[in-house]
Amino acid sequence: MSVLSNRAKGLRSSPTLAINAKAKSMQAQGVHVISFGAGEPDFDTPKNIKEAAKKAIDEGFTKYTPVGGIDELKEAIIKKFQRDSALTYKRSEILVSCGGKHSFYNLAQAIFDQGDEVIIPAPYWVSYPPMVALANATPVIVETKETNEFKITPRELEEVLTPKTKALIINSPCNPTGSAYTRKELEKIADIAISRNFFVISDEIYEKIVYDGFEFTSIASLSEEMRKRTIIVHGVAKTYAMTGWRIGYTAGSEEIISAMNNIQSQSTSNPTSIAQKAAVEALIGQQNEVEKMVSAFGQRRNYIVDRLNQIDEVSCYKPVGAFYVFPNFSRYYGKSYKGKKIGDSTVLAEYFLDVARVAVVPGVEFGADPFERLSYATSMEDIMEGLNRIEEALNKLA
Ligand code: PLP
Repeated sequence: MSVLSNRAKGLRSSPTLAINAKAKSMQAQGVHVISFGAGEPDFDTPKNIKEAAKKAIDEGFTKYTPVGGIDELKEAIIKKFQRDSALTYKRSEILVSCGGKHSFYNLAQAIFDQGDEVIIPAPYWVSYPPMVALANATPVIVETKETNEFKITPRELEEVLTPKTKALIINSPCNPTGSAYTRKELEKIADIAISRNFFVISDEIYEKIVYDGFEFTSIASLSEEMRKRTIIVHGVAKTYAMTGWRIGYTAGSEEIISAMNNIQSQSTSNPTSIAQKAAVEALIGQQNEVEKMVSAFGQRRNYIVDRLNQIDEVSCYKPVGAFYVFPNFSRYYGKSYKGKKIGDSTVLAEYFLDVARVAVVPGVEFGADPFERLSYATSMEDIMEGLNRIEEALNKLA
């Protein structure tokens, strides 16, 4: 008898969390590691949001809530979609879960079956393929091009469609590349989704983190037809520096939301009551802290992209959103240091951690080996020092 299920045996823990853990353990041993690994804002949760949580505790709002979230939060989410994307949802079309990751997990469990194909443009967020596979469906990875700003083109999409295609995942702005789809680009994808009849899962968690006036568009907002075939996965973690609070949400058809609610009711039950109250304040309270954070991220983005592009043999796409850069280091592959050959993004990331004491996440984890992901949700001082160290380490390679 095997102790573990085949499902568990086939699964690795999230690589982004693993890199952070290694960097933290080196730090605990007194090594000054600069981490570009974290997928979370370095800012504290805004005060008004923390106050709302404190108030909830003081008022004894500490019991079970309805499985899929309190009405007050669903109403706040409905307002948010109306305000930001002119999208109209009913309460029965909204589900609150324990983070955006949990939202996606429940969704995959609710709509995917063995034999279903799910199109995932690469570079992709690390958790999509395993969550699709956990639902017994087949991830269909489509490599996008750096020259197309890492966006899937209509032709690339059409080439992989089959009668088994159940859904396409769009993550705009994207983790790890920071690229984002324009309205025009989404219109073309929407036309294909409608004519070839598949769902679009739109992960909009970085919606608010965009630069240079980029106008975010939700593919669901393009038409009523698209609203019906889109499931939006969203959350408060990134916009409001609330990664630890674990509140994500989904908007979709009543049929899907109700199935997800059932799955949640037999697994986690409701998300934390206190965090739900905090999320209400986050979504419909004052938004000026978000502007401040995004403006700081924007300055860091400009610096980090310029610096990376100044390094010999490195190219870096300038992201329009999120807080990651995804530079191409592949021209260093094949070079060596003290007999150790840099063959791929994993070895290069290990080299950066061991020799430069800098943590980055290997591109291969996002389905794109020529690259490394660096999060710039860290202080400007660390970014400067980290890039000095990376440059120095690259110069040692021959
Ligand atoms: N979607 C994307 C693209 C992400 O990068 C993340 C977090 O890294 C999530 C969803 C989930 O975020 P959370 O579960 O913290 O709400």
